[in-house]
This record gives sequence, structure tokens and C-alpha cells, in this order.
Amino acid sequence: MKKKIAVVGYGGQGAWHAAWAMKSDVIALSGIYDIRQCRMDAAREAGIHTYPSLDALLSDGEVDIVVCATPNDSHKDIVISALKAGKNVVCEKPVALSVRDFDEMCEAARASGRIFTVHQNRRWDVDYLAIQSLVNSGKIGETVNIESRIHGSRGIPSDWRCHKPQGGGMILDWGVHLIDQMLRLIPEEVTSVYCETTNITTDEVDDGFNLRLSFKSGKRATVEVGTYNFIAMPRFYMQARGGSAIIEDWQKKCKVARLKAWCEKDVLPVQTAAGITKTMAPRDEITIDAYELERPVSNVHDFYRNLVSAIDGECEIAVKLPEVRRVLLVMEGAFMSAKAHKVLSVSI
Ligand code: NAD
Repeated sequence: MKKKIAVVGYGGQGAWHAAWAMKSDVIALSGIYDIRQCRMDAAREAGIHTYPSLDALLSDGEVDIVVCATPNDSHKDIVISALKAGKNVVCEKPVALSVRDFDEMCEAARASGRIFTVHQNRRWDVDYLAIQSLVNSGKIGETVNIESRIHGSRGIPSDWRCHKPQGGGMILDWGVHLIDQMLRLIPEEVTSVYCETTNITTDEVDDGFNLRLSFKSGKRATVEVGTYNFIAMPRFYMQARGGSAIIEDWQKKCKVARLKAWCEKDVLPVQTAAGITKTMAPRDEITIDAYELERPVSNVHDFYRNLVSAIDGECEIAVKLPEVRRVLLVMEGAFMSAKAHKVLSVSI
């Protein structure tokens, strides 16, 4: 039998959860609750049951899973109330505004014995999965450096996302996804954090950032989000001991250049304005195997399929709380580094 979910917050993302629940093979939608009447009306118009209050939603014994899809500053209280009501809980990202708040939420989950997880849905993104499969395959050897960027040009959305107290800003909004992905691509202790933020369109929150991470073995990563980039840099760029890879944008395949032979006797120099260079001359097919990876197959429903199996004790939950906590620690480090204009030595 399908598990029943109820969604708290019927805005953009709450409506997304509701719509996918109605198409799911493992969950069914019981209803929603939103503090704004206009959103309750919108749900009713879409034929969705609305609960008159959060308490009414939480006391519906039919509901197995509560999804919290409200602005970032309200997650903690809603999640803790839902866990105390004996519900399994999915919280939208970023799960909390601080590690301290998150620890309180985890304590409530431990006390309830229910499953508490976070909607880190970009673990199912095809571009990320392509880089992950390349890393795991070992085809271009050990990672040296991975750069992950998202560039838009429309500034920060003019809703709660541009207000600091509500958990606005791009580190919390997009950074949380990209950092989560990066910690999976380089599964090692983070040893240093350096972050610079931008305030091109607003002074209240970061409308972009560039975050550098170093890892225990010396591997390096860049995570960058921009909202004022009219030409976007590549989504992913990777250097490894045995080659390089690039994904130019979301829709493109991963291009790989695998090193076949290091030495070349006859490098054809490249002409530049100031003279010729062999050092920077492009390589050819004698030393490089160049190819594209097939785009991985991904299914949005897999998030809830995994959750339902985990509730039934058939598998581990995909998005685990210690992983979520590490991402929050990196984000806290990023804020501290940006404020102090300093590289922070960390052990995360
Ligand atoms: P939104 O502003 O469109 O919707 C939020 C809704 O919550 C609004 O309708 C608001 O009235 C309602 N709300 C506010 N406080 C409430 C409360 N205490 N109880 C009940 N309802 C309340 O915002 P959004 O874009 O839907 O974002 C919501 C959450 O989803 C955020 O945490 C955001 O980061 C996350 N999100 C995640 C993804 C993703 O891909 N995982 C994408 C977008 C948003």
C-alpha cells in the first residue's frame, strides 16, 4: 500500500512535492497546509485536500510522511513538531540555518525513532551523476581538482531568498546542493575552506559565492554560484592524474580527454601573438583519447522510492543525517571565511 504524505508549505516546492506524489508509485498525497489563504485556495482548486492548521495535519493518523517545504528559517520548529507527532519527515534543503539547530532536529528524530531525511534531490541530477560515474570508474585516474559552477543572470529571487533572517542567499540556496555533491565526489576530510561572496544585486545576502575546499590527500575543489553571469562558465570541470573532463552545461554530455601517452616527440607548436609555444600547444589523438559519456539515466521518483523502502526497513536511507551535517559545517565555514577574509583550517 502507498504511504501517505502531507505537505507543509504549498509554495513553489511544496506544489512540486504534491504534484509528484500524485504521480508516484509508492506515495499518495493526503493534503497540504499553508499559512497563506491564497495558497490554500490554490490547492483546493487543484483538487487537493487542505488541513485547517498544522496541528490538524499532524494529528491525521493516516499520514505516514510529513514534507516540510516552507522558507528556510521555519524548518526547525515544523520538523520537530512532526517528529514529535510520530511522523517520518522529509525536510527541504537547507535543512537548518545552523548546525546547532540541526542537532536539535536530529535529537528529536532519535527520540521519535522515525526517519528524518533531507530533500537533497540534486544527487539525482544527470550532470552530477556523469561526473560521479567518471570518478568512480577510475578511467582518468585519481582526482586532482573538481570545479562545480552554476551561473544565472537574473539576480537573487525577490522573495524571502533575499532576506538574511529567513535564510536567504546563494550559499544556503544553491550552495547546499553543490557542496553536498562535492563531498560525495571527493569523499575525504575537508581540511581548509576559503570563501568569497558577491553582493552585486543586494547587500543583505550573498547573491553569489566562490568557495575553495582542500581535502586531506591534497585534492582540491571549487564550488561557485553566480546570479549575475551573462555568460556561464562550465557546469563541471575536472582534472585527474590521467586526463580531464568537462560538462559545459546541464544539457550537454560529459566530454573526456584521457591521456594515452605522456611524451610526444613532435609537438606541433601553436602560434600566439607573442611567438610560438609547445608547452601550451593542444594535444592530438596520438596521446589523447577524446570521447563523450552517455548521459546517465535518472528518475525523480527514486527519492521517495528509497524513503518508503527505508521506512519499511528494506534499505538504508539515501540522504543520511551525518552527510547533511557535514554540508552544514562546510557552509558555516564558508560564512566565517567570507566574513573574516581568511582561509580556515578545518577538520570536517
Ligand atoms: P515559496 O515561498 O514558494 O513557498 C513557501 C510556502 O511556505 C509559501 O506558500 C508560504 O506561505 C508557506 N509558509 C511559510 N511559513 C509557513 C508555515 N509556518 N507553515 C505553513 N506554510 C508556511 O518557497 P519555495 O521555493 O517553495 O521554497 C520552500 C523550501 O523549499 C525552501 O526551503 C527552499 O530552499 C526549498 N526548495 C528546494 C528545492 C529543491 O530543488 N530541493 C527547490 C526550491 C525550493
